[in-house]
Amino acid sequence: MAAANVYGEDGLDRLVERRRDTAWFERALASETTRFVVGWQERLPVLDTAEGPRLASIGVPKLAPLVTGEPVLLGAIEDAVHVAIDVSNSDEADVVAVLPEGARLAELREIGSLLPGPEAALAASHRGVLLWHAAQRHCGRCGAPTVIAEAGHTLTCTNSSCGAVHHPRIDPAVITLITDGERVLLGRNKRRPGSIYTCFAGFVEAGESLEGAVTREVFEEVGLRLADVRYHSSQPWPFPAQLMLGFLATASTFDVRLDEEEIADAQWFTRDELRAIVPDGPVQLPRADAVARRMIDSWIAGEI
Ligand SMILES: [Zn+2]
Repeated sequence: MAAANVYGEDGLDRLVERRRDTAWFERALASETTRFVVGWQERLPVLDTAEGPRLASIGVPKLAPLVTGEPVLLGAIEDAVHVAIDVSNSDEADVVAVLPEGARLAELREIGSLLPGPEAALAASHRGVLLWHAAQRHCGRCGAPTVIAEAGHTLTCTNSSCGAVHHPRIDPAVITLITDGERVLLGRNKRRPGSIYTCFAGFVEAGESLEGAVTREVFEEVGLRLADVRYHSSQPWPFPAQLMLGFLATASTFDVRLDEEEIADAQWFTRDELRAIVPDGPVQLPRADAVARRMIDSWIAGEI
């Protein structure tokens, strides 16, 4: 297996053993060595370098002029403790003013595939956990406000007769590269404008296995039956909260029938046809940070 998917690489020590150590976390939040990665309205700070974009973190004194949310312990990269902190209620100019000179606020989808592996993993956790906090201010069971626990990795209900503990909401979704042996079937989704042809994806339903979800989604979207379904790899995909589970499957029927609500077009492509794709042509492949793209590229290269 080649390198991990973007956002899923090792190299980020998540410091899980520290999450319940409140005294340690308080010391870390006050330490001049701790790095804070702000989050401002779904964007995060980057500095463009000759080697590409790098996350631009700041020390605790720089936070003083900002309106800050609850800190979340993301982990350590090479022993440097990193903390996410939401500053969405500050003015954008005030946020940019405390960043290192030349830094800017960027969308993760723009920079994800260009960051070093551990920084991409850190950025994915940053985005995922801050979005979850924003969406879970109240208990989903009783409606009372929640407060953070475990250094931001759980939210607990403040209603003592409820006491629910909420974990980050993650939505598992399967994504499948279908082959007939010589070609792959890629489709264009109706809801996404443009000319991107990609693998077929859908959310896993309650009570469903991953293999069952693959089989159901492929039949729903293109009407094919599958001879075998093999796991490929997984990828955190915090746009906003998916865990993408990549599968390879061989078709056992070949009569494509489109789900007309979902799929605008589906076509079989040979390796040569995919190698011949040019920028701005009628067929484009998915973005570079997506597991779908990695599976397609690996298939073109004959690796899978
Ligand atoms: Zn509750």
